[in-house]
Amino acid sequence: MSVPLVDLKQQYLAIKDEILAAVANVFESTQFVLGNEVAAFEEEFASYCGARYGIAVNTGTSALHLALLAAGVGPEDEVITVPFTFVATTAAIVYCGARPVFVDIDPITYTMDPKLIEAAITPRTKAILPVHLYGHPADMHPILEIARRHGLTVIEDAAQAHGARYAGTPCGSLGDLACFSFYPGKNLGAYGEGGIVTTNNPEFVRTIRMLRDWGAETKYNHVLKGFNYRMEGVQGAILRVKLRYLEQWTEARGAVASQYRACLADCGLTLPTEAPNARHVFHVFPVLTRQRGEFMQALKERGIQTGIHYPIPVHLFPAYLDLNYKRGDFPVSECIAAQEVSLPMFPELTTAQVAQVTEAILETQNVYQY
Ligand SMILES: *Cc1c(COP(=O)(O)O)cnc(C)c1O
Repeated sequence: MSVPLVDLKQQYLAIKDEILAAVANVFESTQFVLGNEVAAFEEEFASYCGARYGIAVNTGTSALHLALLAAGVGPEDEVITVPFTFVATTAAIVYCGARPVFVDIDPITYTMDPKLIEAAITPRTKAILPVHLYGHPADMHPILEIARRHGLTVIEDAAQAHGARYAGTPCGSLGDLACFSFYPGKNLGAYGEGGIVTTNNPEFVRTIRMLRDWGAETKYNHVLKGFNYRMEGVQGAILRVKLRYLEQWTEARGAVASQYRACLADCGLTLPTEAPNARHVFHVFPVLTRQRGEFMQALKERGIQTGIHYPIPVHLFPAYLDLNYKRGDFPVSECIAAQEVSLPMFPELTTAQVAQVTEAILETQNVYQY
């Protein structure tokens, strides 16, 4: 029996009738782009995050791009973020013509280290963009406190953190703006591309609604240089169905994580931590080992698929060498990038499958000295 890293098919089959009815409904209505289903989803998702407004877009990357533009980020500006993330976080800053300024991550939570932020602030800094990596919230209180003192906007990259919480507050309503992705493999995934910006600020809402639809204030009155970043009607309808299951699926991810944690406590791998004030939603279950190649190969031979999130931090990508960073600049990010392995993680994993993974790890532990 093999265990995949992620399996989207089982979940689809479990909700197939509801999904197909929702899709048929959109086709009948011919509201193929935006429309009532998207508007209803915006309200329901914002409410789920404890935010007043949601503006649905075509991808998580577009959500980041528009949130940055709404915050006034443009050429000559700087945005403080982390190099240990998916490339989209950095790309969105570059789309605005601004410069990404990296600070390293905390070695325990793998999210932005607030102690390093102040030294990175310059007169050009406009915003701080922390990432709730793997589904664990960034340490938002000190980040928000620094931002308030320096007059900076805080934008959450919550693409991996649907349903995560920090000190009881959901990700999506912690910063001035927050951005989610509904890429199929995310904790809440569309059957195609999708994203949303959440915020409590009506001015940001006005700007982002215009920017996602060609900058038009009213039809054919283009007051801003906008984009075609609209969400499709079918994705809104599918996401409304799936949102109703999200808590149940998040609980299931938590149960898988607990089983991993209990069985792997003493095996020598570094396991992910959940800060005392945090709810981790385990988009990824990351473990660290110095023997990554051997570890992944041993699991592969036992039918278990693993992944790496992410093997190279953004400051070392050829595409971003013009930012003039070099190896050694962000030692924690580089260290985690060299050691991280993602174990199978999705809500439908059975207790037996998780046991198969943990037994395979324990069986090979003495051979490889993880
Ligand atoms: C997936 C992801 C994005 C981009 O979302 P898309 O919907 O794929 O554009 C941005 N940031 C992080 C951290 C992500 O994981």
